[in-house]
Amino acid sequence: MISRIIYIPFDHLNMSHGALAKANPKTDLVVLIESKRMVTGRNWHKERLFFMISSARHFAKELETQGFQVQYIKADTTIAGLEKAKKSLGKDVPIICAEPSSIKQFEALQEFGVDFVPNDFFLTPRDLFRDWASKQKSFVMENFYRLQRNRLGILVEDGKPVGGQWNFDQDNRLPPPKNYTWPAYLEQTRDEIDVEVAKELNHELATTWATTRAGALAQLQHFLKYHMDAFGPYEDAVAKDNWAMHHSLISPYLNNGLIHPSEVIAETIKAYKKNDYAIQSVEAFVRQVIGWREYINGMYWFLGYEYREANALKANRTLLTVFKNSQATKMNCVQGVVADIEKRAWTHHIPRLMILSNLALITGVNPQEFLDWMRENFIDASEWVMVPNIIGMGTYADGGKLMTKPYPAGGAYISRMTEFCKTCVYDPKKRSGDDACPFSTLYWDFLDRHRETFKMNHRMAQQLKGLDRLSDLDELRDRAKFVLKGLDKGNI
Ligand SMILES: Cc1cc2nc3c(=O)[nH]c(=O)nc-3n(C[C@H](O)[C@H](O)[C@H](O)COP(=O)(O)OP(=O)(O)OC[C@H]3O[C@@H](n4cnc5c(N)ncnc54)[C@H](O)[C@@H]3O)c2cc1C
Repeated sequence: MISRIIYIPFDHLNMSHGALAKANPKTDLVVLIESKRMVTGRNWHKERLFFMISSARHFAKELETQGFQVQYIKADTTIAGLEKAKKSLGKDVPIICAEPSSIKQFEALQEFGVDFVPNDFFLTPRDLFRDWASKQKSFVMENFYRLQRNRLGILVEDGKPVGGQWNFDQDNRLPPPKNYTWPAYLEQTRDEIDVEVAKELNHELATTWATTRAGALAQLQHFLKYHMDAFGPYEDAVAKDNWAMHHSLISPYLNNGLIHPSEVIAETIKAYKKNDYAIQSVEAFVRQVIGWREYINGMYWFLGYEYREANALKANRTLLTVFKNSQATKMNCVQGVVADIEKRAWTHHIPRLMILSNLALITGVNPQEFLDWMRENFIDASEWVMVPNIIGMGTYADGGKLMTKPYPAGGAYISRMTEFCKTCVYDPKKRSGDDACPFSTLYWDFLDRHRETFKMNHRMAQQLKGLDRLSDLDELRDRAKFVLKGLDKGNI
């Protein structure tokens, strides 16, 4: 006899965590809702929609195999779907859900009367993070990360960091290697559910992303076997002809629940011990998972909903044409990165930060427009993770709440850390002139435009001093106007 509805959002797809951890197949009806708003409400990348929907449908089927009664409902909205489920039972029963990952969904479900169990899809309870954050003068991730290492007992022996250092970042900033063979990436197998979803979406079936827990676990093991050992040194580099380098490609599964960070860490430590992998790589990867990921989620909840609307630099340029069409630029790096996103809805951390966000920052694109575009186009995008990464880390729209300074970069950085510049029509060493790299021009123009805002920030002093030393500022300003116009039109 059914006495509860368990509602499973598409990012809680896990049998052992969230509301299913204590579910009973005899008395619980499990409900998943494919809402029209979710599918057609925005201009979502089809690969992303495919991944989300196919994963949810596979999960529903798996629940049935485990003996659960399951309703996979198509409805206009989540709430309409929940009403449908209630009606089908012909009686009023409580609806249980794990605390949602976004503030808006939390509020909507709460208003509808859903009862929550704690969200345990992270390693850090929300109140524990709040407690840490409320005691900080500035929210330095590294401090939180060391707390995590000690609290969770990861890579710590007798209170000391394994390998003698907490952080091996200084060993991990190598440019792309030359004459290097990158190990192959896992191709996922497809089944009739995948084929059906792809057909419904009119989407060409690809094999990059798993849509089952088994596929997600296979990806984790593939990473640990072939990529883990060399993850660290090249994590900040961007190759021209290799799309994933040594990155793990697990963010979509961590974010939709198919795998849990605790098992990622347990498997990583196991592989490290068994294979004696380089500590600089293992530490770097662990830092991403127990440090950055948890910190970003904690900050999202700590800073609240209004944070997403911040626009401290009053950046109001319309989204650049090139974000919507990789061919609308001659800039090799931007073209390459956007083309990767068009293909797989993914690119690694440095292109997200130092190419896409950097371009949005120095051209003054409206941060909310940029946020919306990123949300729609990435396979692993969720509100909780995109908002702090873009509003705080990427575009400094929060005026310094997360990071103490903005991180604009010119062509010199891109030339050092990527392979794009050698064959580009623009010269990263030039900041003015017809073939000057737009990043180099706009880097200085950005500092020039915001000189007043940044002059109180001592961490920007060096850069502003550099600006004062420029002898071609007038010429550079003219070039910047031309470049910005070209980026708006899509012909730079
Ligand atoms: C502007 C911007 C937008 C981003 N948007 C997203 C997003 O929508 N979804 C998302 O999961 N990550 C996002 N990130 C973080 C990071 O770029 C991705 O997690 C990573 O590229 C995913 O690929 P991977 O699994 O191979 O990661 P790896 O490089 O192998 O890292 C391992 C894991 O660490 C975690 N991680 C590392 N850095 C971060 C971070 N800054 N925030 C949260 N988790 C982190 C991820 O779960 C990732 O899977 C964003 C970063 C920036 C700068």
